[in-house]
Amino acid sequence: MKTNIINSPKVIQERKRLDKNNVFKEFVLDESYKNLGKDKTYYLYTYGCQGNESDSEKIRGLLEEMSFTITYDLSKADLILMNTCAIRKNAEDKVFGELGRLKQLKRKNPNLIIGLSGCMAQEESVINKLLTKYQNVDFIFGTHNIDSLPKILYNTMSNIERYVDVLSYEGDIVENIPIVRESNIKAWVPIMYGCDEFCTYCIVPYTRGKERSRLKENIIKEVEGLIKEGYKEITLLGQNVNAYGKDFVGFKYDFGDLLNDLSKLGIERIRFTTNNPKDFDDKQIEAIKNSSNIMPSIHLPVQSGSNKVLHKMNRKYTKEEFISLVDKIYKEIPNVSITTDIIVGFPSETEEDFKETLDLFKRCNFEGAYTFIFSKREGTPAYSYIDESITEEVQYDRLYRLNELVNEGYKRGNLRFKDKIVKVLIEGTSKNQPDTLMGYTENNKLVNIKGDSKYIGKIVNVKIVDAKTWSLDGEIIDDQN
Ligand code: SF4
Repeated sequence: MKTNIINSPKVIQERKRLDKNNVFKEFVLDESYKNLGKDKTYYLYTYGCQGNESDSEKIRGLLEEMSFTITYDLSKADLILMNTCAIRKNAEDKVFGELGRLKQLKRKNPNLIIGLSGCMAQEESVINKLLTKYQNVDFIFGTHNIDSLPKILYNTMSNIERYVDVLSYEGDIVENIPIVRESNIKAWVPIMYGCDEFCTYCIVPYTRGKERSRLKENIIKEVEGLIKEGYKEITLLGQNVNAYGKDFVGFKYDFGDLLNDLSKLGIERIRFTTNNPKDFDDKQIEAIKNSSNIMPSIHLPVQSGSNKVLHKMNRKYTKEEFISLVDKIYKEIPNVSITTDIIVGFPSETEEDFKETLDLFKRCNFEGAYTFIFSKREGTPAYSYIDESITEEVQYDRLYRLNELVNEGYKRGNLRFKDKIVKVLIEGTSKNQPDTLMGYTENNKLVNIKGDSKYIGKIVNVKIVDAKTWSLDGEIIDDQN
């Protein structure tokens, strides 16, 4: 089958940050694509972060605007699309494993169309591997041009040829792409794309491009629409939400301003992720402190407790600066819960460095963390950092010791709500106990509650009767709606 390479990613290009203003575009679906998916079904895989989940909601919006219908049965799909993640090697291995499995499906159904998007599509080495070893992949597009999906799919289906269209430059901000949301209770609201931090272990600045912020008018319009539709909670998304607005030219408007404006719109719950301590300023802390509808749960990735390792990671703060930020947040927002991200086994990390990370975890009273073993990513500076002293055994030993502390943090963070009355947004029934409702407190604690499904989508007052490591048990005491 002929392969058309319209655009293909180049790491050298993705490293660059061209000094050019953002381009804002409005999406309009070409009429000729409207019935492309008539009587056809699609199956969508979503891997990775909330940013990818939000992109998948746009991909669904585009496919359904083209008359495709979703199926959750792989064998019934006419189109299969994998929206991938490249943050760690095991995320990629999972996708290649699944693509291998799909070869059989394609042998059974030669008309099956398979596409791939997301961060893996932005990696030069991955594209080469897909084009040489995975003939069953018919089209590939990247994180910067989701709005090109209709055209790429139209060409792939009409010409029965392979298409690769992955941009290396940072991409435009495209508004009005149709969205099909997973939930009708809480919604992802991306406020910016990309990251310019270039932490030495991280692939995101290459796969997601330059930091570019959406205009506040478009964000406010989206949130007003969600309020009208009855949404209770929004989560503002960005690789580094605290840097929102820094790329605006000719006017000043930053994340603190956005939080203040959104909190006045009447949405009941506002969350945001993810943060970078380097850009978390007093104005943002004030906005959270002064708005009862901005939730007191902050995820603040620190990655390491050693200044030497932080420097080698190119994280632009010291342990001391991080601690003083955490202390300020606790002082200004007393009831807040703070969680973090930590990488262990980073090249050059000694036992002493690791002990500093354990001490920092205790010192900051974190109520949980996502913990990872360093995974070298091709194209990042840390890919060439070699440190034979850090064996796999050392990495797993450190992860194990850290997770013991993290579990204590989760438990401690839950125990402080025992016998308290808290507000819970009931989201649905618990995965493991269908007769039990589940929801989250304002501090983002999972609560399981015996109760009637009429409470789903409602914020209710709940008495916490038990606190476990990963969740709370509660009883509804009244419905405040
Ligand atoms: S700030 Fe986060 S997304 Fe950006 S480079 Fe660092 S780790 Fe990656």
